[in-house]
This record gives sequence, structure tokens and C-alpha cells, in this order.
Amino acid sequence: MTIPIHIATNLAVFLILSNIPGIEANYYDLALIISSNLVDLDHLFSRPIYHPKRNPFKTHFLHKKWMYMIALSFILFFVRPVMFLGVGLLLHFLLDYIYIKREKV
Ligand SMILES: [Zn+2]
Repeated sequence: MTIPIHIATNLAVFLILSNIPGIEANYYDLALIISSNLVDLDHLFSRPIYHPKRNPFKTHFLHKKWMYMIALSFILFFVRPVMFLGVGLLLHFLLDYIYIKREKV
């Protein structure tokens, strides 16, 4: 999945969550949910850096450990200062999963 789609989805989810009473999201949370896409930096360790028909869960080292990353995301989800980082990571892996299922890579 491309970065603009990740960021647009993050912004949409941030807007939805920030309207829920009791969450009171701020710019720090916005920075956290967008910075969750830094997990894609593992693309830099593969050649070519971007290939549209490559399965990230089989090639990139942070995506290969998706079970640990999702477990970490759930833990982060319940710690309020970094809750949006957990939400962002869960969204990132969900979008990547949807992408590989849709594109059949
Ligand atoms: Zn990714």
C-alpha cells in the first residue's frame, strides 16, 4: 500500500477517534499515528526499494514479524500516551494485508 493512502487513512481514523468523548486527541497523538508509518523504513533494506508486486510480509524484516508487531500494537493500544501509535500500527498492517489480498501478490 502506498504512503499517501496510509496517511489519508490515518487522518480519517484520527478525526473519527478525536470526536469520541473522553479521548481528547491532540497534535502529539496526530504525530504518533502518522509516525506509525515509519515501520515502512524496512523497505530501505531491500532492492528495489519499492516494488508494487512484492509481498511485504515475506520480504521486509519488520513486516515479517507481523505477529509480534500486532501484539505490540495491542499493548500500546491500552497505554493512553502511545495509544495512537498502536492504532496506527494496527491500521498499517491491516492496510498492507488488504493490499496483498486485493493485488494477490
Ligand atoms: Zn507496510
